[in-house]
Amino acid sequence: MVKLDDYESIIGSERVEAIRELAAPLQGSVVQHINSAAVGGGVAEILKRLVPLMEDVGLVPRWNVLRGTDEFFSITKTFHNAFHGQPVEINDFMFDTYREVSRQNFDLVDTAADFVILHDQQPLGLAELRPDHPGHWIWYCHIDPVDVDRRLWEFLRDYASLCDGAIYHLPEYVKELGSRVHVMPPAIDPLSEKNREVDEEERLAILSNLEVPDDLPLIVQVSRFDRLKDPVGVIRSFKIVRDQVPCRLVLAGGGAGDDPEGVQVLEEARREADGDPGIMVLELAPTADLEINVLQRSAAVVVQKSVREGFGLTVTEAMWKGRPVVASPVGGIRIQVLHEETGLAASGDEVVADAVVRLLKDPALAASIGVSAREMVKRNFIMPVYLERWIGLLASERRLTCDC
Ligand code: UDP
Repeated sequence: MVKLDDYESIIGSERVEAIRELAAPLQGSVVQHINSAAVGGGVAEILKRLVPLMEDVGLVPRWNVLRGTDEFFSITKTFHNAFHGQPVEINDFMFDTYREVSRQNFDLVDTAADFVILHDQQPLGLAELRPDHPGHWIWYCHIDPVDVDRRLWEFLRDYASLCDGAIYHLPEYVKELGSRVHVMPPAIDPLSEKNREVDEEERLAILSNLEVPDDLPLIVQVSRFDRLKDPVGVIRSFKIVRDQVPCRLVLAGGGAGDDPEGVQVLEEARREADGDPGIMVLELAPTADLEINVLQRSAAVVVQKSVREGFGLTVTEAMWKGRPVVASPVGGIRIQVLHEETGLAASGDEVVADAVVRLLKDPALAASIGVSAREMVKRNFIMPVYLERWIGLLASERRLTCDC
């Protein structure tokens, strides 16, 4: 199991010691995380690594996954799209089902937890229990809620307002709830299978297992097959790039347990690729961390052509690997990809294509962007820094509500 000391080589032993000291007043505190998928997507990715680290510094973390039906997850996927301002129909049946499934999950809540963290909107209905619970409740909004559908927000706001605090990735995401506000971007784990160093022999072996040829520069986007990640648009951009520089495209991703639309979007991508041998649409298993690592590392350019994005951990992962990224300046990508410094910001098929071509033709620019990108991630978006922010946040919650 991962330990804080393992990060000494990255952040130094003094910083590790300082984090342990910061955690000392919280020893033994039970921190329960509840989300809606054990694998797939950014939240599961974070919790997988954060939970053991919280334990290592003396907290008592728990991680529970909401039990939902297909119908429930199809409703919460609609809610997710409505959070991102997509035109979707929201109706009373959805609210009734959401309420009912939330109540069926009440037994998940640890009655002795000091902190209950509800990740995203799917488990937010559990907040109905807050008035009878002794702990601090925090709603962690991992997505961009700025254009949330008004009717949906009126429904969910009642639950969110029951929580003592809320966490957002960016200051511009903050909603008026009358509760305490925390702004905290997420992080990746440099020591995980997805981000650890890979030697050349292993890299080539994995590429060969994936049947990805290493003969031409690779353009890579790793993402769930979700329309908001615009996989079809990536293919359109790639076709423009390939007319100017020989290269290949790899679009890789799997589904998430709470995302029923994935299969359809994967089909749409395959249709757009239309059997083109230069375009590989790879369906990945949820366990394909090392494969994702290798694809990102092997990329000449990593693309993230999202229409909307909460934070964009795939961008962070690529930047950590020193890869030059071309990404749309949306959501959290805006604080990661500083244009012409830590990446190239671009949106629209042609502008994205131009940016990719620019990097392919200018290896010195690509290399210097890669170096700055890695440094930016190291300073701001890696797990030990995130743990430190979590500890500060929990301590401040406790101080603010303590009667003593
Ligand atoms: N991911 C994965 N397998 C996939 C697709 C994505 O493990 O098939 C991971 C990806 O490496 C990243 C996370 O899931 O760590 C996605 O987080 P991001 O913030 O980019 O997007 P989200 O899926 O949360 O919208």
